[in-house]
Amino acid sequence: MSFQSLGLSQPVLQALAQKNYAQPTPIQMQAIPTLLKGRDLLGIAQTGTGKTAAFMLPSIDRLSAARRVPRPQTCRMLVLAPTRELASQIAESAAAYSRFARLSVTTAFGGVPIGKQRRALERGVDVLVATPGRLIDLIEQRMLSLREVEILVLDEADQMMDLGFIHALKQIVKWLPEKRQTLFFSATMPKAIRELADKFLTDPGEVRVAPAATTVERVEQFVSFCDQREKQALLTMMLRTGFSERGNMDRVLIFSRTKHGADRIVKLLAGNGIAANAIHGNKSQPQREKALGLFKAGEVRILVATDIAARGIDVSGVSHVINFELPNVAEQYVHRIGRTARAGAAGIAIAYCAPDERAYLRDIEKLTRQRIEEAPLPPGFNAEAARIASSRVAVPMPRHEERRWQPRPQGQRGRYAGAVKPMGGGRRRASGR
Ligand code: AMP
Repeated sequence: MSFQSLGLSQPVLQALAQKNYAQPTPIQMQAIPTLLKGRDLLGIAQTGTGKTAAFMLPSIDRLSAARRVPRPQTCRMLVLAPTRELASQIAESAAAYSRFARLSVTTAFGGVPIGKQRRALERGVDVLVATPGRLIDLIEQRMLSLREVEILVLDEADQMMDLGFIHALKQIVKWLPEKRQTLFFSATMPKAIRELADKFLTDPGEVRVAPAATTVERVEQFVSFCDQREKQALLTMMLRTGFSERGNMDRVLIFSRTKHGADRIVKLLAGNGIAANAIHGNKSQPQREKALGLFKAGEVRILVATDIAARGIDVSGVSHVINFELPNVAEQYVHRIGRTARAGAAGIAIAYCAPDERAYLRDIEKLTRQRIEEAPLPPGFNAEAARIASSRVAVPMPRHEERRWQPRPQGQRGRYAGAVKPMGGGRRRASGR
């Protein structure tokens, strides 16, 4: 099936040709015809499936066909996203797809001065991509009205709920006109999300692409077992080999469970002569954009991120995803490793599993219905772990995390630490799987 046969207009097809998209992805095939008819849509899909184009392309055509000029301080299409990164990513795609249709696209999210956004909205815009908090600020300060919205998109609804945006969404819906087209996307569809969707949608078409568990098929997955405090040594060694001449790493995205953890990884890598940047909620918007820009450009090829910050990261050519800690929600693992298998590409995902994360690993294997292959610890691992353990005092740690990093006294080591057997010049711990 081609984009032409889906009934898209010439300006949109021209933009797609420029992006070199040869054919629609499954979600695009399913969603575009429904949306062109003006129907509401419930989409169960995660990022990486081509979902942004699935909702933007038909919307561009519908907005262009109506040929209305947006009134001052209004928008014709509102896209709500949970994070700034995702919002700017969507806006970037929307601008590229609507290039020849000549629609105006702007963003509104926290972390940047509100005055700039007010000016952008003064004349009115065709497409506004916003996070809920800043959107409400703009409306309450009378810089924006939603009464002219023709199309509403709620993206990553499950993440919105996790981030506590539920009340904000219920508030926003009261400001919207009843007559509108609504598109609701979520990677997962638990009962609470389904109920929220019912509030927003009228007789929606439903599309569902590759449930979470099957989208990971293209990613080669591995798990290495070590103690939490040895992970930094493992990471350093893997990156050194991976980025050496015989290595196959090109761009590596590392997931950390906490913001402090992400910063600490960056500092420890820097201490070992490896450049990396972190991206998380404590970073200012310009810092986040800069880190992402350097990563996209391949100038700093290692990015350490927390789950929330990583939501909007759409970088082609992420060769490896490293789960420095396993997420405690199995679906999150699928989201994470999906970063390395975007739009048809293959990738490698490596998880570091400490003894207290074994239950998380079991949940992940249950969800994905795959057993993750064990990657042995590299040769010389124990010596490197000891070296890094003795040098890490130089890196300041947040108080509440200090305890985890104290070397355990002899005799109290974890059950994996005791089971050591030599392997090829280094020493490998039996995983006990
Ligand atoms: P999304 O799920 O919207 O985050 O899109 C994931 C990635 O797939 C983005 O880098 C898009 O540019 C890319 N993409 C979307 N649709 C297509 C397509 N039909 N062919 C090739 N790449 C696509």
